[in-house]
Amino acid sequence: MCRRSLWNHILRELKARGCGERESGGFLLGRKDGDTRVIKSFLAYDDIDPKALRGHIVFDGSRMDFVWSECRRLGLQVVADVHTHPGGYRQSKTDRANPMIPERGHLALIIPNFAEKVCLPGQIGIFEYRGRDGWLDHSKAGADFFAVRRFR
Ligand SMILES: [Zn+2]
Repeated sequence: MCRRSLWNHILRELKARGCGERESGGFLLGRKDGDTRVIKSFLAYDDIDPKALRGHIVFDGSRMDFVWSECRRLGLQVVADVHTHPGGYRQSKTDRANPMIPERGHLALIIPNFAEKVCLPGQIGIFEYRGRDGWLDHSKAGADFFAVRRFR
């Protein structure tokens, strides 16, 4: 779940950082509330690793310590990651092979068209990492899986 104003902010950041010509992305920090993950904050890859945006994304894993310290500071955890694609929102071979957080249940969101337009669940990729079982694709479930709401 994500508040609509925060979701719009995240998409604006992704669009601005990608300049319409390169992929951008970041970690989505939040809280687990039972089975529901609530997104509370966005941590852009290029704020953690200034060299991360190279057309496609190459994130330096040694910088994860900064991510964990931000989580501790804010009292949040990484609940998902998000990145843009130039075209559609299918996972690439690289995306499938390299989960940002290789933990069962981790969610990876993909925003099409470099986040050129505001898009909502139903128009984005939503993939759940299942360890050695690969990935579950929740994209078609859209708002039934990922609710973007005006209040929360
Ligand atoms: Zn990708």
